[in-house]
Order: sequence, then C-alpha cells, then structure tokens
Amino acid sequence: MFIFKARLLFIFTFVTHLYSQTMQVNLNKVVSVHYKLHVHDGNTTNEEFVEETQSSEPMVFLFGSGNLLPSFEINLEGLAAGDSFDFNLTPDQGYGDSTPENVVKLPMEAFVGPGEELDSEMINTGSFVPMIDEDGNQLQGMVLDIKPDHIVMDFNHPLAGKHLHFAGTVSNVREANAEELSHGHVHGAGGHHH
Ligand SMILES: [Zn+2]
Repeated sequence: MFIFKARLLFIFTFVTHLYSQTMQVNLNKVVSVHYKLHVHDGNTTNEEFVEETQSSEPMVFLFGSGNLLPSFEINLEGLAAGDSFDFNLTPDQGYGDSTPENVVKLPMEAFVGPGEELDSEMINTGSFVPMIDEDGNQLQGMVLDIKPDHIVMDFNHPLAGKHLHFAGTVSNVREANAEELSHGHVHGAGGHHH
C-alpha cells in the first residue's frame, strides 16, 4: 500500500511537470519576456545598446495580436517559461529601411503660433516631437536641423535601417482570457488597466 501511494505521487508530479512544459508560446498566449535590445550594422561586434526590461517589469504581450514585429514573435514561438532566446533581425524583418522621403522640411509655422517663440526646451536637434499629419495620424519626428524659417524633421522610425539583436528569457506563458482576446491586448499586470 505504501509503495502504491508513492507511485501515485510520482506519476502525479510527472504529469504536472509534463503539463507545465507543454505551455508553449504560440497563438493567443499571454507571454512575459525579459529582453535586452542592441542594434548593429550587420556585424554584431559593432553593437549599440538600446533598451532592456527592468527585472520587476517584464514586457507582457498577446502572441499573434499584431502588436509586435511578426519576426520577433516567430523567434519566440514554441518556447516555454524559463527558456532563453538570442536572435538577430535584419532591417527588413525589423523596422524597414530609412528612406529620404521621410525627411521633410516643415515651415516654422508648424511649430510656433504667430508672435510666439520656438520652444527651445522641447525642440532642439536630436529631440523627438509628437506631431499630427494632415490626415490626423499621430507620428513622432526627430529634429535634424533648425533653420531660421524651417525645421528639418526625420519621420523614419528611430530603429529603421538597423539590425536588431534581441536576447533574453521567457518568464511566463499563460492562456489569454476571452476578454483579452476580444480586445486584442493583455489586461492586468504589464497590460491595459481599464
Ligand atoms: Zn482591453
């Protein structure tokens, strides 16, 4: 009898272990990851640090909801909590190439009202300025150059033209609930609160 109980326990722990292993990153899972992002020019020895998650705040996302780069998700698919990843994306798989058409000269009137002075705290070379185009879309541009009558703005994505190197670990994988699926994003910790 004693032996029988011990066996049962063994089978039980084996089954729960198997079950937790099968919770893999794929469609409609809520995935938490810690990562570090570096960019480079195709040669990883020339890497430049961009950002990393803080230990208390993983990035949490709904897999397959289209909120992240598709090629980022493909590289995580099939991983489980505790697995690590380390991969590179070309500019094509990332934020595309930087194009000169996205660099535009905007008249000073786009930044200051009549009789006002330019807000030099907010607008200086290298700073990012939130703007609205004629169709009402919000976009961020980087100030490249300030001239007396116009400002040269770069509306390329800051990571356009870069190779992206992501390295990190999957910290949690769970099923999304029905509400998260209908909203297309994560609720609760690391997600939307509404
Ligand atoms: Zn929601």
